[in-house]
Amino acid sequence: MRIGILALQGDFAEHEAMVRRADGNAETLQIRQKRDLDKPIDGLVLPGGESTTMKKLLLDLGLFEPLRGMISEGLPVYGTCAGLILLAHEVEGGEVCFGTMDITVKRNAYGRQLGSFYTTGEFSGMKDVPMTFIRAPYIVRTCGKAVPLASVDGKIVAAREGNQLVTAFHPELNDDRRIYNYFLEMCGTAEHCL
Ligand code: GLN
Repeated sequence: MRIGILALQGDFAEHEAMVRRADGNAETLQIRQKRDLDKPIDGLVLPGGESTTMKKLLLDLGLFEPLRGMISEGLPVYGTCAGLILLAHEVEGGEVCFGTMDITVKRNAYGRQLGSFYTTGEFSGMKDVPMTFIRAPYIVRTCGKAVPLASVDGKIVAAREGNQLVTAFHPELNDDRRIYNYFLEMCGTAEHCL
């Protein structure tokens, strides 16, 4: 199994390391330009970083249309923080990018002072999952087929819609592989290899 890691900006290296450490013996492929998509991938990680910068780079490098097509056709994708914003179909305080997931997100939702914090919580039935938030968004609402998977203080911080998984927090910064195992299982059971 090969997992593409969008490597334009942000903390892609930490994601890459976690994907390799997770169950499933996945190899990784950094996606930096269009020809990186010549190799088939079974899943894609959109890392944290700065969503407006990532959107601009995606457009400038000609990666936007092909990646949106692959996600729409069912490629399993995991977006964290800025990656979550890239997938949302409605963004309060920011711009829509791929817009493939039926969620409304509020960008920089926790304000400047409380923008970064650590807690633990339940994620899809898994207990005590570490959750590091850095200038994070939260999910204002899910609609259609999108379902919440985790909440912190009444705010939705993780969700899934079919092939799309998002978390407002950064599991790549903690030593807990469970969310990567969850995502790689999504990739292993998906019918798609794009
Ligand atoms: N605040 C960033 C944005 O709006 C996201 C922060 C992050 O990815 N850690 O893109």
